[in-house]
Amino acid sequence: MIAAELVVRDLASVATLAPGPVPRVGTTMSDLGIVEGGAVAVDQGRVVWVGPARRLSSEVRLRPGARTVDGQGGSAVPGFVDPHTHVLFSGDRADELSLRAAGATYAEIARQGGGLFSTVRATRRASDARLLRETEGRLRRMAAAGTTTVEVKSGYALEHVGELRLLRLIPRLARRTGLRLVPTYLGAHAVPPELRRRPDAYVRSIVERTLPAVAREGLARFCDVFCEPGFFSVASSERILRAARDLGLGLKVHADEFVASGGARLAARLRAASADHLLATPPGDRRRLASAGVTAVVLPVTAFASAARRSPARELVDEGVAVAVGSDCSPNTWVEGIPGVLAAAVHGGRLTPAEALTAATVNAAHALGLSDAGTIEAGRPADLAVFPVPSPSSLGYRFDVRPSVVLRQGKPVSPP
Ligand code: ZN
Repeated sequence: MIAAELVVRDLASVATLAPGPVPRVGTTMSDLGIVEGGAVAVDQGRVVWVGPARRLSSEVRLRPGARTVDGQGGSAVPGFVDPHTHVLFSGDRADELSLRAAGATYAEIARQGGGLFSTVRATRRASDARLLRETEGRLRRMAAAGTTTVEVKSGYALEHVGELRLLRLIPRLARRTGLRLVPTYLGAHAVPPELRRRPDAYVRSIVERTLPAVAREGLARFCDVFCEPGFFSVASSERILRAARDLGLGLKVHADEFVASGGARLAARLRAASADHLLATPPGDRRRLASAGVTAVVLPVTAFASAARRSPARELVDEGVAVAVGSDCSPNTWVEGIPGVLAAAVHGGRLTPAEALTAATVNAAHALGLSDAGTIEAGRPADLAVFPVPSPSSLGYRFDVRPSVVLRQGKPVSPP
């Protein structure tokens, strides 16, 4: 008999997302590994058993004092993995919506010193305590909506000391929230205003000073670059990413968000872990991602909030690219809960609900290099969410469905 200290039962279904190839591509994205009428048993933070509820009592022994969680006929899914966020910032940019309404674009607002640069000013000014408090609130709301793993990028300090400060806050946020956080160094988010006329000096300081410090202190698992005209050229992006790879960091690219910048092609050439956004990627470059095994991270809320475009999620799946989906939570695209992002991926990106769920779990974990997240499987961390819906396909269909239970390592996440 398998011993358990917690059991989740009375579930219409468990979408295990296991077994199967990782990452999922093409038709394999539709196989959710559903157990109908399932139950999940947890011990010491890990799943120890998942199967049909009728076999539970003969295969699982409850430890004295074990807890039973009533799934109330809902659907269990793996805790969401959000593979792309800028959640660590201070302030907000609500005042810019009137400029947007008058037709100004993200890049135009940034050129006038607003947008990203107003967040840089607010973040540089904010104390550690303030940054921790504001970001912790966002992370707790993400968790309450079903997310248990979050990639967190730096990128709102844009100078050596400030970027290191942001990265050092990430483990503290993980301890405070209990979430699994994956840190990414994004010093190359934009050229800071004080070096606007000397962008090469900023690239040099990233390559020669900040990246080695990040690697020495083990502050980030990935290095990311905003590869776009007016931000970082393909040549500068490649210089930064090659230096990061030499230091042992994984690679990510903000690619082709506004124009076909060559970012996806660069990600394919360097065999990056992921290429993200891809709104303007030409079909030939999408196929390069497929053959290089680069995961495409689509950010469907940003597609309409920032660029007024349709997410190319459907095309990427049909072309055989491994697709993951993320929130892009930032002061520009302030979305915290993955359920709304799934709905945007389905209604805007034309994924099926099953494909979207795969993209937000097992494929998102793959985009972060995590082999033990994004599934409900014996031996893996007990990270899961129960939604009060009859089947997981209601996720992606309904925009604002909220889970009744969220477990991270077998413990209910505390409300925000
Ligand atoms: Zn981003």
